[in-house]
Amino acid sequence: MIKDNLPLQAYKTWFEPIVPVKLEQSVLTIQVPSHFFYEWLEEHYISLLRKVIKKELGTEGKLEYSIVMENNGSGKSNPYTVKLPATNKSSLKNKPVTMPIDVAEKQIRNPFIIPGLKKVNVDSNLNPAYSFENFIEGDCNRLARSAGYAVANKPGGTAFNPLLIYGGVGLGKTHLAHAIGIEIKNNNPNKTVLYVGSEKFAHQFIDALKNNTTNDFIHFYQMMDVLIIDDVQFFSGKERTQDVFFHIFNHLHQNGKQIILTSDKPPVEMQGMEQRLLSRFKWGLSADLQAPDLETRIAILEKKMYGNGIELPSEVVEYLAYSINTNIREMEGALTSLLAQASLNKKAITLDLAKSMIDKFVKNTAREVSIDYIQKVVCDYFDLPIELLKSKTRKREVVQARQIAMYFAKKMTKSSLANIGAHCGGKDHATVLHACRTVNNLSETDKQFKVYLEDLEKKLSIQ
Ligand code: ADP
Ligand code: MG
Repeated sequence: MIKDNLPLQAYKTWFEPIVPVKLEQSVLTIQVPSHFFYEWLEEHYISLLRKVIKKELGTEGKLEYSIVMENNGSGKSNPYTVKLPATNKSSLKNKPVTMPIDVAEKQIRNPFIIPGLKKVNVDSNLNPAYSFENFIEGDCNRLARSAGYAVANKPGGTAFNPLLIYGGVGLGKTHLAHAIGIEIKNNNPNKTVLYVGSEKFAHQFIDALKNNTTNDFIHFYQMMDVLIIDDVQFFSGKERTQDVFFHIFNHLHQNGKQIILTSDKPPVEMQGMEQRLLSRFKWGLSADLQAPDLETRIAILEKKMYGNGIELPSEVVEYLAYSINTNIREMEGALTSLLAQASLNKKAITLDLAKSMIDKFVKNTAREVSIDYIQKVVCDYFDLPIELLKSKTRKREVVQARQIAMYFAKKMTKSSLANIGAHCGGKDHATVLHACRTVNNLSETDKQFKVYLEDLEKKLSIQ
């Protein structure tokens, strides 16, 4: 029943790894690989799980999770499992403190709970969906991605230690950080890898202070082979947290362990961060993530759809990709709303539906057609490969299409002539001006040409 209700990829990722362990008095216990996994199921699939439990076990039916803490390297799972009753989002929210045993907390207080082991294999907190495979490469992320990949294949053994990934909201910092962790775990299952948000790190530290367990806290983090801390800008102004992190950082670094950090800004712009920490951030490599270009955005949307077993007309995907051009998370959000709306109203997703919805979605953000989009529309129209238009070729049909693209870029974007030229085969601003004049003249003398232009203008206008 679950399989029928989910896209195959989602089923494979989130349901195949589940192992049913026992069924006793209408309580089904399932074993899941990690705490993260449990949270994800609760967050995304609770209503489906409820339905299935009710159908199979009746109204008395209950679900319990058991989270495995794997025995390091031996391949056998250990007998210490943690029982978690099924909850739902709201009860999680209401009872954050009494939330069923948080594995990480437990490990912090008691880092050596499993007897006879040199190390505890911690729950890495990695989201399997945020893999390298699912991370689309583009000019916007090439350096950060390849540095991340290098680190993943030689953790602690490259000059990129720490690796600091920085960039604006929704540009893939968290995804890339997870991807590195996942790759390391795949290559070296015995390495202790931990992903932690800096907010969680700071809260754990405050708890440790309260409980007089700061030593345990520090030891726990110093045990890692790879430590990934997301959004370190959150440490700004928090002196004691920075202090404890400084010590952990030094210990790990001195022992050749890999540190991966993300931040919404480069070290030079991090206010309220101690100088000694900032200087350490600069020891390795800082690589930024930029907003992706149109082609990369389309590829990202296609990957997401494929992963979820969704298909959409390509014009809808392109429209989505060019309407929302700064924040990938927002673009994905728009895709999700679009799907939800279509399934609620039992409507097919047409370009018109997409337009009306997305216009609402991005009402408040100023939009402008991009040069990339203009080039794409023009090339589609004349059936030319976009690479030719961006190249220096002087083939007649390409020259004309290129001039038309330049003409619309000048008319519809705020880009400088130099920038337009750079996008169109590395022409200078005089060439762009000449192109605009040529197009204007032709549209006055050549009727067919004028029809082309009007057609294109219609295609390019957003509303
Ligand atoms: P950030 O941490 O920078 O705010 P996230 O890593 O949370 O951003 O990314 C936001 C969304 O965009 C995620 O769903 C992520 O999977 C997706 N995303 C970002 N960059 C890429 C990429 N290059 N390829 C595929 N998906 C991406
Ligand atoms: Mg993030």
